Amino acid sequence: MSIVLVGVHGDEKCGVEALEKILPTLEIERGTVLFGYGNPHAIEANKRYTESNLNRMFNDELLTPKEKDSYEYQRAQFLKSYLNKADALLDIHASSIPNSKAFVICEANAGEIVKFFPINLVVSGFDKVEPGGTDYYMNTRGKIGICLECGYMKNPQTIKVAEESIFAFLKAKGHMVDNLTPQKQSYVQMFQKYFAKTDKFTLSKPFENFEVVLKNQIIGIDGSEEIKAPKRSLILFAHNGTKIGDEVFLLGEKKESLV
Ligand SMILES: [Zn+2]
Repeated sequence: MSIVLVGVHGDEKCGVEALEKILPTLEIERGTVLFGYGNPHAIEANKRYTESNLNRMFNDELLTPKEKDSYEYQRAQFLKSYLNKADALLDIHASSIPNSKAFVICEANAGEIVKFFPINLVVSGFDKVEPGGTDYYMNTRGKIGICLECGYMKNPQTIKVAEESIFAFLKAKGHMVDNLTPQKQSYVQMFQKYFAKTDKFTLSKPFENFEVVLKNQIIGIDGSEEIKAPKRSLILFAHNGTKIGDEVFLLGEKKESLV
């Protein structure tokens, strides 16, 4: 069984809209596919989440009692009951950073599926630097977890990216018949996530996703400390922080293949 999740972050609407387009005429030829809304309360409110980030609720060891008390934690338990029955997941997201391009987040176990996605960048290493997402949950159970970032959330093109990727996923998993062609893709390995140590982390400038930062380049100021890149890297999801522990950026580097 395969699962396609949309709206795990409620304001990332491309997956929800892609499903609305696809589902009325979709014919699954083999096997079972579940399509689901990740976070219905947040989708309705058009917010990333209502109490806790749902895409961090899948690793109990990292959660505080307050997080475990949240609607999203409960929702994660509900979603787990389906994820436990599936062998592969496609979870569809979009980015709040303008100009973001589409990319896939997965580990090597998803190589035979994502090579058919209409996406030219494949990013791995998230399970180590950012454990607790839906894809992490699947991967740590010997299954396949794929997270798709469709681009800037306000760009309508993201709906098409979501739609085409859902079809590539369904075909690669054998749910629909078609001749798929592998795409030319490049690879990035994430190696670090930085959490704000103070309640005021300010970026030195706005960074686009996968912008190059040089060794010792100042990325931001955390309280009064300058935070520098440890080596030449590609920066991802760079945001200002307003709380201790805020996720403010990730760093990665290019690699030759997914494996
Ligand atoms: Zn998201």
